[in-house]
Amino acid sequence: TSFAHFGFDEQLMHQIRKSEYTQPTPIQCQGVPIALSGRDMIGIAKTGSGKTAAFIWPMLVHIMDQKELEPGEGPIAVIVCPTRELCQQIHAECKRFGKAYSLRSVAVYGGGSMWEQAKALQDGAEIVVCTPGRLIDHVKKKATSLQRVTYLVFDEADRMFDMGFALLFSATFRKKIERLARDILIDPIRVVQ
Ligand code: AMP
Repeated sequence: TSFAHFGFDEQLMHQIRKSEYTQPTPIQCQGVPIALSGRDMIGIAKTGSGKTAAFIWPMLVHIMDQKELEPGEGPIAVIVCPTRELCQQIHAECKRFGKAYSLRSVAVYGGGSMWEQAKALQDGAEIVVCTPGRLIDHVKKKATSLQRVTYLVFDEADRMFDMGFALLFSATFRKKIERLARDILIDPIRVVQ
């Protein structure tokens, strides 16, 4: 597979070329077409496999479609991840590739300023990258609304639950995450790398 197979438009291809990636990685070859098709997916791949871009590129395409269908407030895509570092890393990639369409990303994580994050959310962003507890805090304070969200990613879901965010869902996690995945994903396709 080459990048041309994904059918991305010139604006997104331009940002990808700027990254100097010569060809898609295996998780991108398999995952991108599935995510573009709108199917739910469980991706299992290591750090360094290019998994972040594998969910960001289809997300950008989805946001551009959705923005027209449903103009309004609040993010269209939410990426939930376990740590502040990962949040910042993913947010940086969202900004880099989101430039293709002038999309805005906001990162909200525990330990950062509630006030500054709330202000950024209120200024408006199509993409929110967050740690789970902090996202909940902002939603409770009505700094943002999730009613327009139609693209949801749990990155490093296994780690998130290992780290005690399991409290959100209670103990014995592996079983729980399997069940959670079964409950919220519709007929997901598994991609294992
Ligand atoms: P990740 O697995 O998402 O943490 O990505 C690991 C690294 O691979 C990041 O530094 C990306 O910038 C880089 N990367 C992502 N996709 C590609 C690609 N198609 N070709 C080369 N490098 C890539």
